[in-house]
Amino acid sequence: MKKITKISAILGCAGSLLAGGRVDVLAKECLTQTGFAMDTVVTEKIYSDDQEIPGEILRLLEDLDQSRLSWTTEGSEIFHINENGTKSVKISDEMAGWMKQILTLADRSEGAFDPTLGEVIRLWDIGGEKQGIPAEGELKALLENVGWQKISLSHGELVFLEETSLDLGAVGKGIGCDVVSAYLKEKPQVTGALINLGGSSVMTYGEKPDGSEWNIAVVDPKDPEGEYLGTVVMKEGEFLSTSGDYKKFFEENGVRYHHIFDPSTGYPAKSGLSAVTVIGKNGLEADGLSTACFVLGIEKGEKLLKEYGAQGLFVDEEYHIYMTEGMEERFHLLKTEYEETEF
Ligand code: AMP
Ligand code: MG
Repeated sequence: MKKITKISAILGCAGSLLAGGRVDVLAKECLTQTGFAMDTVVTEKIYSDDQEIPGEILRLLEDLDQSRLSWTTEGSEIFHINENGTKSVKISDEMAGWMKQILTLADRSEGAFDPTLGEVIRLWDIGGEKQGIPAEGELKALLENVGWQKISLSHGELVFLEETSLDLGAVGKGIGCDVVSAYLKEKPQVTGALINLGGSSVMTYGEKPDGSEWNIAVVDPKDPEGEYLGTVVMKEGEFLSTSGDYKKFFEENGVRYHHIFDPSTGYPAKSGLSAVTVIGKNGLEADGLSTACFVLGIEKGEKLLKEYGAQGLFVDEEYHIYMTEGMEERFHLLKTEYEETEF
């Protein structure tokens, strides 16, 4: 692997993207729309003449969040599961499929990715009104309830074997990409698409009319509002996800407390990384892997990516960039203060 700099998402169609809820026709059969769903800004570029598609995708994502994934929305499937506690609950086929992937990733990452961090995440409330460093005793007590092994899934029934709480925040946008991908496969009038969920999760579908590849901008974690770290090429049917310490955090006494936790301590992960970007063949996996790799750090993270056949770009706190071989070919560094380093 080699080391390089930071990631975010850039769009590659002619013309500029306009904010607002309306569909803009940029060129013949090229539609764009920027809207809000899943608590984030969603930018769509759709190659089709069917102007209903961008709005339908936004509704699909919002419905996914509200009816399935949101732990705060009363009546969502996750809310229902958490409410049920240690009683067995029949879950939908979709949820069973996602939970299977989620528990496999928790296992393969040796718990670096853990969907049962819910109570710890709520205690820290990073980015929320109650955010702050929790009392150690309280944190320790809630950590007792963390552990993906407490979840049992069989024949569409899910049970908490012990008290715990699910939070799918680390894979929600990736699941959104998978759901949109499945939707687009049923729409022959769409020949290509690029969907970007808040810069965190990006998916490509089909082809551009001119056959060119998609260039996605990668955010500089040290300067998220500034110039991009670089660009990365995405091919057809791929999923990209970025996890970073710059997305949600607060600072106290010069220390940054960010939103990606090490489940073994209950504190924000300290792996020496500022950001990790992963490209994979599946949205949930890419999203979960970027979170897991952020916690695991470079060496263990690279191993995990290999197991999944995914590509990764790791940015450390010292302005070094490390990349898997497949990523090296796709990444173009734009910032001179970063250095590419061999794994
Ligand atoms: P992401 O930006 O995809 O890395 O996801 C971060 C979000 O996932 C956080 O805001 C939490 O809701 C949740 N989370 C934080 N740490 C973990 C972890 N180690 N495993 C699973 N979910 C986590
Ligand atoms: Mg993630």
